[in-house]
This record gives sequence, structure tokens and C-alpha cells, in this order.
Amino acid sequence: MKIGPVKEVFKNLFKKPMTVMFPEEVVEIPERNRGRHHLDIDNCISCGSCAKICPNRAIRMIEAPPDFKEKYPKTYPQVDLGKCCFCALCEDVCPKDALTLTTNVFLATFEKEDTYVNPIEV
Ligand code: SF4
Ligand code: SF4
Repeated sequence: MKIGPVKEVFKNLFKKPMTVMFPEEVVEIPERNRGRHHLDIDNCISCGSCAKICPNRAIRMIEAPPDFKEKYPKTYPQVDLGKCCFCALCEDVCPKDALTLTTNVFLATFEKEDTYVNPIEV
């Protein structure tokens, strides 16, 4: 009988597990990880560059909800995370640093609507 595997089992019995009890515990997300988008709408100049550069056509320029149209009369990016590949080209091209990818990677949802990052959440 080979002793290797048995030795390996005993060695690992006393090691801290690699996994965590999600969702009560979460692993630390690296600072540069690319997750859910955030739009700083006050910095957005509605140039549409983010939508144009997106290789997956995951960004549409849409109007603000009726209650906000007076303050934000132009069109603003809406990101469909269901289409996004998190390449961050939209972040790189934004001339005003208005669109950024956050470290929020907990994106699982049952509702299709929840995959949209809207310019203003109502
Ligand atoms: S991260 Fe890439 S794929 Fe996702 S919305 Fe931005 S440009 Fe499109
Ligand atoms: S988020 Fe940036 S790139 Fe996209 S429309 Fe606004 S200013 Fe332009």
C-alpha cells in the first residue's frame, strides 16, 4: 500500500479549509476585480462612447426616469450584465471617469430585470 495518499489526508485534516460558508462568509475580493458597474450620473456627459466601444453591445443609452428628466434631460448608459464580459473597455474609454466597474461580484439573480444596471435606480 502506498503511504502517500494517507499522509496527504492527515496533513490536510488539520489545515484551514480553502472554502468559506457563503453567504454568511465571503472571500476577500481583490481591489482590481471587475464586477458590477457604477455610474456617476452627475459626471456623465452622455457622449455614448461606452456604448459604442462595448464589444458585446451590453450598453444602451436610455432616458432617465420621468421624475428625473428635468435634472437629467439627456440619455445615459444602461448596462446589461447578462451580456457583459467585464472587459472594462467602457471604463477605460469614459472621458469623465463616470462609469466604473466595482468589486461587487455577487451578481446571481432570478430576475432578468436585476441584470440591468440603470443610470438611476428607482
Ligand atoms: S465591461 Fe466590456 S462588455 Fe461589459 S459593458 Fe463594459 S465594454 Fe461592455
Ligand atoms: S459614462 Fe462616460 S463614456 Fe458613457 S456616456 Fe457617460 S461620459 Fe460618455
